[in-house]
Amino acid sequence: MEQLKQRILNEGIVISDEILKVDSFLNHQIDPLLMHDIGAEFARRFARRRVTKILTLESSGIAPALMTGLLLRVPVIFAKKRIPSTLTQGFYRASVFSYTKQETTELIVAERFLTPADTILIIDDFLANGEAARGLTDIVTRSGASLAGIGVVIEKAFQPGGALLRERGLRVDSLVRIRRLAPDGIEFVDE
Ligand code: 5GP
Repeated sequence: MEQLKQRILNEGIVISDEILKVDSFLNHQIDPLLMHDIGAEFARRFARRRVTKILTLESSGIAPALMTGLLLRVPVIFAKKRIPSTLTQGFYRASVFSYTKQETTELIVAERFLTPADTILIIDDFLANGEAARGLTDIVTRSGASLAGIGVVIEKAFQPGGALLRERGLRVDSLVRIRRLAPDGIEFVDE
């Protein structure tokens, strides 16, 4: 997605050779027009998969997931990272190791929002080691719902998450794939 590559090149800050900061349009300040175009691109790519719900995790997955849900006309569920006091019925829980925070966090999703009749599209902002995606796919599997695939805004292709998920036979669609992060430049995988 050319527009997204340009935004990353113009505004992305390379924090280290592994971490990219894009808080001017995705992770802190959010650009609604760009999010709309990202949602439209995911909706186009998954149009034939009969998606019934989108699943993401708070907080940075919500903006692209919501726009995708708007354009596919389906509800958006976000996994919570704490058990809310209002969640009194059953819930799925998965532990994932957060790459950016370097700590284990919980993903919590109420059981009643996922049924075996659902086909789920998982959306996330970044794909690094694939931990968040693994936690969300585990929850989908336990619910009996089908998985249409995983849509990622920015995949860091030099980290193992994408390969691990694709080896499991899962469809992973990334809007941009980064080959290398360095203070002197950001290189994308040619595709
Ligand atoms: P994974 O679970 O695939 O190892 O990491 C994905 C999660 O970590 C994403 O949900 C994202 O919030 C965060 N993350 C991983 N790498 C980066 C990065 O380079 N920049 C930012 N801003 N977040 C990242």
